[in-house]
Amino acid sequence: MNSAPTTSPSVPVSGHPRSSTDRRGILFIISAPSGTGKTTLCKQLTVNLPGLWHSISYTTRKPRPGEEHGSDYYFVDEKSFQEMTAKNEFVEWAHVYGNLYGTPWKSLTEKIDQGIDVLLEIDVQGALQVKKRFEDAVSIFILPPSMTVLRSRLHTRASDTPDEIQRRLHKVKEEVWSYREYAYIVRNEDLSRSLRDLESIFWSERLKTKRLNMTWLENNFILDDDQKTGDHKDLP
Ligand code: ADP
Ligand code: 5GP
Repeated sequence: MNSAPTTSPSVPVSGHPRSSTDRRGILFIISAPSGTGKTTLCKQLTVNLPGLWHSISYTTRKPRPGEEHGSDYYFVDEKSFQEMTAKNEFVEWAHVYGNLYGTPWKSLTEKIDQGIDVLLEIDVQGALQVKKRFEDAVSIFILPPSMTVLRSRLHTRASDTPDEIQRRLHKVKEEVWSYREYAYIVRNEDLSRSLRDLESIFWSERLKTKRLNMTWLENNFILDDDQKTGDHKDLP
């Protein structure tokens, strides 16, 4: 499978006027150095925002305490992961901090076709691959307040070994230099402020003129009754 178009009719998202959401789902990409707080923010975003679905990646990394298969990730061995890459089942995949991670096509395209917005929490390499395939994707880079705070968050999370934490910290400079590839930057100092900033981005993107369903617009304001077509003539 290759790329998918990003605008055409779909089901409405509850809590939002149908006139502007009667469209395909939007693809949001969030990246950040490990320990910045992206998982914390993404989990809360899917609670706060109606019509947003957090994609679940496949990984060969071992689960951390409390992580669940099918909820945080699909945890698979390297052989299964390679079989999936051979069958072209990933939108993108990458080696990150010594493990393999990949975004599955199937659930992503299903949600987008249903008009549900999709949130991808992926690394910089994955973000670049997705942007090539989905030109309309909205990319957001999250920065920690400082290296000192980042180091302290990784230690406080206490989910990785000291070696693993070092490996992640070594990548920060390279990751941060990719900030230019992203449309938005959010600095995660205060959690509620970062959430508010992210929510503003999501709502603004949903309201962009280019995402308006043209059939609905034409049927309601432009065409005479006998010219109206499609499933949308009665909307909203
Ligand atoms: P990431 O997914 O980017 O690796 P996490 O979401 O796991 O990061 O967050 C790393 C640690 O930092 C966690 O212990 C989390 O509770 C904490 N954290 C996240 N955001 C903030 C914040 N704004 N202020 C303080 N601690 C935070
Ligand atoms: P963690 O092991 O801390 O859960 O994630 C490590 C890194 O892998 C993070 O930067 C995370 O965003 C990234 N990641 C998670 N899932 C995917 C994915 O499907 N594809 C890519 N390219 N990166 C991913």
